[in-house]
Amino acid sequence: MAGTPRVAIVGGGVGGLALAHGLRAAGVDVRLYERDLDPNRRRQGYRIHISQVGEQALAEVLPEPVHRRVVETATRPGDLLAGFDHRLNTLFEQAFPITRPDAITAVDREAFRRALTTGLEGIIERGRELVGYTEGPGGAVELRFADGHRATADVLVGADGVGSAVRAQLLPDLEVLDIGVRCLYGRLPLSGIDRDRIPPAFLRGFCFLADERGIGAAVAPVLFREPPAEYGDYLMTVLTGTNDALGRSDDELFGLAPEELWGLAVEHTATWHPAVHDLMAAADPAAAFPVTLRSCTGIDPWPTGRVTLLGDAVHPMTPAAGAGANTALRDAALLARELTDAGRGDLVDALARYETEMIGYASEVVRQSLRNAEQMFGVHRAPAESGS
Ligand SMILES: Cc1cc2nc3c(=O)[nH]c(=O)nc-3n(C[C@H](O)[C@H](O)[C@H](O)COP(=O)(O)OP(=O)(O)OC[C@H]3O[C@@H](n4cnc5c(N)ncnc54)[C@H](O)[C@@H]3O)c2cc1C
Repeated sequence: MAGTPRVAIVGGGVGGLALAHGLRAAGVDVRLYERDLDPNRRRQGYRIHISQVGEQALAEVLPEPVHRRVVETATRPGDLLAGFDHRLNTLFEQAFPITRPDAITAVDREAFRRALTTGLEGIIERGRELVGYTEGPGGAVELRFADGHRATADVLVGADGVGSAVRAQLLPDLEVLDIGVRCLYGRLPLSGIDRDRIPPAFLRGFCFLADERGIGAAVAPVLFREPPAEYGDYLMTVLTGTNDALGRSDDELFGLAPEELWGLAVEHTATWHPAVHDLMAAADPAAAFPVTLRSCTGIDPWPTGRVTLLGDAVHPMTPAAGAGANTALRDAALLARELTDAGRGDLVDALARYETEMIGYASEVVRQSLRNAEQMFGVHRAPAESGS
């Protein structure tokens, strides 16, 4: 490399952490700024499906000991994707043969983030919330943080998620829509549960169920290779629906205590197959929280400068394709490659190549996730705009 560009990453989620590893391994001077002191403070979900795209990106950017840690803390591979009606009649079923015992097909979000942080302690600054930046005439970018701290870099990467402060300044017109679906997230710890009571498909992979009232449920196992110290194997249990189907406004849903929220999930599955209702009723009510599903509608190219974006910051999408984190990982691998190959002189060319390729594949994944959301949730057009 002709020079050593200073790269500032804002956001220590899946994409930012992966990029930090890729750049650091290549000798790039990188710092990562994360607003939260506790990385698991904001709850986004429990289980993340990892596709071959994500798996390849992880293999590309992670140093061997970190990659090993991700494999060790991942779930044992699942081999099924299936759909059911609410009476548990199979609507479709697709099996995926497990070819490698060390395959990564799903992770627990908290354990994954912890594994991805391995070895990055020296370059992460926590408690740094970016509030704005200025691109100087000489190419340097000045970052401003809520605590008054300032930093300078040759490249700023906004990896700061769906409510990105970097995007708000760089692409203020990028539309992010509330697609109208709310998820009530829960989990059922499997310790002490008779696994024979659980429909076998639920322990094999991702299963989606739906009734004729527009209420859906997703169930998927997290069976650890090596469980974290704090908790063990569990089933992710999720109820989905529009506010109308759930019979609650956002003010009501987001104001409920976890136990009340999960009570709603149990109530909505009361007439479902008893095996499903029993599982929902056995889930940990204290683990419940609501999530709003958002998506962009498209990504238009922008004039390349020294500030770019990756992951949900630039292509927020519904989880219906199981692809948001995988695409963020793909972005991280591509951007690490481009920045590593570039000297200080042609950084903007490298960023332009990254943006062109990323916008191409990410646009297709966003469209797919919206199509899947239509099929799964029956929403045809996002009904309301959302600011974060
Ligand atoms: C319910 C649900 C289920 C999902 N399931 C899947 C799945 O199975 N497979 C899949 O591929 N994807 C899934 N996704 C999508 C996936 O979670 C996201 O696409 C992924 O987390 C995006 O990673 P990211 O690094 O871009 O952003 P994030 O993981 O959101 O990380 C952003 C980080 O930036 C920090 N930050 C934010 N603002 C600032 C600021 N101003 N200054 C400093 N730091 C800041 C945040 O604290 C956070 O740590 C799911 C999403 C949801 C909501």
